[in-house]
Amino acid sequence: MTKVAMTKEADFDAVVIGAGFTGLYQTYRLRELGYRVLGIEGSDNIGGVWHYNRYPGCRIDSESEVYGYFWNEQLKQEWNWTERFAGQPEILKYIHRAAEIMDIRKDYIFNSRVKKAVYDEESNLWTLQFQEPDRAPLTARFVFSALGPLSAPQMPKIPGINTFKGQSFHTAAWPRDPNGFGSAKLDFANKRVAVIGLGSTGVQVIQEMGKVAGQLTVFLLEPNWCTPLGNGPMTKDRMDYIKSHYTEFTAKCDSSIAGFPHEFVPKNLFDVPKEERDAKLEELYKGPGFSLWLGAYQDVLVDPAANKYVSDFVANKIRERVKDQRIAELLIPKDHGFGIKRVPLETKYYEVYNQDNVSVVDLKSTPITRITPEGIQTTDGLHEFDVIIYATGFDAIRGSWDRIDIRGKGGVALKDQWDTNGVKTYMGLQSPGFPNFFTMVGPQNGATFCNIPRCSALIVDWLTEMMAHVKEAGIQRIEADQQAAEEWTTYCGKLMSKLLLGHTDSWFTGINLNIKGRDKRDVLLFVGGNPKFRDYCNDVQKHDYKGYHLS
Ligand code: NAP
Repeated sequence: MTKVAMTKEADFDAVVIGAGFTGLYQTYRLRELGYRVLGIEGSDNIGGVWHYNRYPGCRIDSESEVYGYFWNEQLKQEWNWTERFAGQPEILKYIHRAAEIMDIRKDYIFNSRVKKAVYDEESNLWTLQFQEPDRAPLTARFVFSALGPLSAPQMPKIPGINTFKGQSFHTAAWPRDPNGFGSAKLDFANKRVAVIGLGSTGVQVIQEMGKVAGQLTVFLLEPNWCTPLGNGPMTKDRMDYIKSHYTEFTAKCDSSIAGFPHEFVPKNLFDVPKEERDAKLEELYKGPGFSLWLGAYQDVLVDPAANKYVSDFVANKIRERVKDQRIAELLIPKDHGFGIKRVPLETKYYEVYNQDNVSVVDLKSTPITRITPEGIQTTDGLHEFDVIIYATGFDAIRGSWDRIDIRGKGGVALKDQWDTNGVKTYMGLQSPGFPNFFTMVGPQNGATFCNIPRCSALIVDWLTEMMAHVKEAGIQRIEADQQAAEEWTTYCGKLMSKLLLGHTDSWFTGINLNIKGRDKRDVLLFVGGNPKFRDYCNDVQKHDYKGYHLS
């Protein structure tokens, strides 16, 4: 191990970009370790996605008790969730309380959006520049980018989108209640509202808009398979039980693939008698959260025949719940099987389509041609609206990194490197050629295809131990090895190809037709599961951080 000579003093030992769940915790841990750390946040406040996504109906798909900071005993004992699946305002309030306990705001600067991050080999320092002209650049030895895999909102590519005269919103940039944690008070009664996008966000917003809009029109491109959320009030008894059993909840999440309290049945679907398997699917469909997605037979996301069986089961549920069978057929996905794309969870979503104030435009038979000042023009004519809601998602997983000009050794841009060679990382934590620059919950990271607060805490804890080690040993530079990154990427690709979702176009595989050049699949996820990722991390640590050059 050769040590890098420090030729220049950095403004900060470390910076953490992002004040979401991951960034706040990482900043806290580094500060507690004695690092001179600065947290940087582009927005005016903390909360990350929960600060921005304030659209009506926004809530988590994880059971409330498994979403949050499991490491904080005080928070676990004092916090009382009010719903089985908490709504956005409550989650944001929780994050604010956590920040108070960590006393972390004082370590952050806000309204500071990083525009460029440049590594200088000679000084071994990163210089960060900001979009705000009045914010001076700063230098740091280590950069922890906790930018969020779903934090770069993406508008659709539709001509005339800026000509609309009514109100239009992207769900991830929703107007805020200036005095509270939720949405601004907006009146949709007597308004003609359009929703474009049918992912988890679109489904949630449609459920709510169905209740309040004068007229609601859903523009439907490809539907998703949705299953019931199973929400309800959190009783005091249940909350008391949770508080005294947190260790069990933690253990259950830690042993599951995606950090949720659901585990696959360790049997193949067709090995189980039909009557028994049908009863099981019924039970799971009625179960909470991702019961059916992450708790069905072990081969459902692997074997096309087993997958078709479950898809047919859910399709029949849609047919039962939607009265107009023409619309039911439109709402049954034809381009992918159940669970192959992210499954939105719903509460009376399908019943919305039975309401008189709700209609559907099938974009496959009548595509949108443009947005006009009055509304949405399709090949079938003009649909006039007062409000258009874009629930069109994100430049997922790598988008937040692509939107910063990140320059590593030799001035190489991370985005160019990823565009040219495909994404390559070691453990989803670093790309070779970008020393001391950590990507957290980004491409190929174990926390990305996971219950994020639960799984990102593992990353934070692991990196913090690494930082404790380098502090003690006087190490100045941590750099992922090229070969290690090649091997990690190949490993991620192999795991991905075992699952049907690895063979389907979606944000899981890097496809986004609203973004130029994103029509080819890339290896963006580590789908090996939480336990495997944890074992890998432990093994790397045990073997002197193998795969990293420490100097
Ligand atoms: P998304 O899953 O990417 O969905 C975007 C939707 O917009 C898709 O239906 C897409 O259609 C449609 N779309 C995009 N461009 C379009 C166009 N030009 N014309 C018509 N339709 C278009 O985004 P999201 O719903 O915001 O969800 C992203 C992720 O955030 C979720 O998968 C989930 O992980 C997370 N999320 C979680 C929660 C929760 O925990 N409760 C809630 C919301 C979001 P195609 O599919 O056909 O491209």
